[in-house]
Amino acid sequence: MAKEKSTGKAKFHPLEMALRQLDIAARKLKLDPDLHEKLKYPQRVLQVAIPIRMDDGHLRVFKGYRVQHSMERGPCKGGIRYHPEVDIDEVTALAMWMTWKTAIVNIPYGGAKGGVVCDPSKLSRFELERVTRRYTSEIGIIIGPDRDIPAPDVNTNPEVMGWIMDTFSMNAGHSVPGVVTGKPISIGGSRGRLEATGRGVVYIAEEAADYTGMDLSSATIAIQGFGNVGSNCASIFYDKGAVIIAVSDVDGGVFNREGLNIPRLIKHVKKTGSMRDFKGAKNISNSKLLELKCDILVPAAIEGQITERNAGRIRAKVIIEGANGPTTTKADAILHRRGILVVPDILANAGGVTVSYFEWVQSLQSYFWEESEVNEKLKKVMVNAFREVVRIMEEHKVDMRIAALMLGVGRVADAAKDRGLYP
Ligand code: NAD
Repeated sequence: MAKEKSTGKAKFHPLEMALRQLDIAARKLKLDPDLHEKLKYPQRVLQVAIPIRMDDGHLRVFKGYRVQHSMERGPCKGGIRYHPEVDIDEVTALAMWMTWKTAIVNIPYGGAKGGVVCDPSKLSRFELERVTRRYTSEIGIIIGPDRDIPAPDVNTNPEVMGWIMDTFSMNAGHSVPGVVTGKPISIGGSRGRLEATGRGVVYIAEEAADYTGMDLSSATIAIQGFGNVGSNCASIFYDKGAVIIAVSDVDGGVFNREGLNIPRLIKHVKKTGSMRDFKGAKNISNSKLLELKCDILVPAAIEGQITERNAGRIRAKVIIEGANGPTTTKADAILHRRGILVVPDILANAGGVTVSYFEWVQSLQSYFWEESEVNEKLKKVMVNAFREVVRIMEEHKVDMRIAALMLGVGRVADAAKDRGLYP
């Protein structure tokens, strides 16, 4: 049985959830049982030991993983997460979601994910760099520009991607910028990549607002998580005039019904290291933030935040999943019954992997685009994907997650069928 993760009081099983979603999509698609069977399993799972010298001279061994779920449609693609609760079931589920996500936005990749069991807040910068370099070297046997291309995820950033690119390049004996995306612009990163997931969430919100007859320029928005995804989508929503009533991070959040000044909040977080006690706002817990009355709720932190325990109390009209797996299957059913539109992670947060794809293309060609070109192409991809998913949702009378899964799983199954079975 898939391993349990604790999310507050509720129990959350990411792999069980991912497999159940695949079953639902397979049933709706009347998928060939052989193809269904094949798609249940990750193609490759690599577990590595990462022994590093800590700053005080003692040796510590960290555990790391890289899971390649599918390469039916192209090289594998997926982020690397540093978190104390990383485990093989979570990484496998995230890799499977990456397979469907790349297919939904129709970019030529399969799905993968990586993780290192560690708490980066308890490591020095040099320890983190040594963990990254040794992990890269260990997974170096299965990654590469035409095999598997990592990217940032929870607690990893452009600096970490730079160390990955450098380590892989040192081992290869020449620069290999296409091995990783989300890297600094100075070494072949793409303009617009840092903001891409948040920007994609906003493009999807514009489509969802249009679809539900909501005026986004005056909509009230609550965002859980203020890292790469949460803070960028908050800034972009703010610039568009939307009213951000609450945001939070792991230590809790802040709330103002009239709207928060996001640029000032970012300065406050930089200065104090926390969003607590922001002038003109009330402190609020993460659980209260999720239950605020608002037009759009963006969970942009971690998995398992909306469960059967709180789904009945959610008062948003639309939920746009910036994070991966924030809503459990039981919660999904409750929200659907209550008429709340949930735009699923595999569609809503696909802006990151889409611009990662653009970065990879630019790295391979050594020809770099203006940010406006990146954003314009991103918008086209996100809008097309949203509209295709809506078409399936209406045609098959299913919720949006199932519609997105049908699109993604269907495309991967077509590729698997056309490639045939080896040997
Ligand atoms: P990040 O590390 O930059 O930020 C994570 C944020 O979540 C931080 O503000 C942190 O304080 C907060 N957080 C962590 N644990 C929390 C908890 N228990 N309760 C409330 N808040 C908590 O990570 P990120 O890159 O912004 O990723 C956030 C989510 O988006 C993840 O699910 C990730 O898989 C997904 N995602 C990220 C990208 C990307 O390009 N970075 C792309 C697609 C999906």
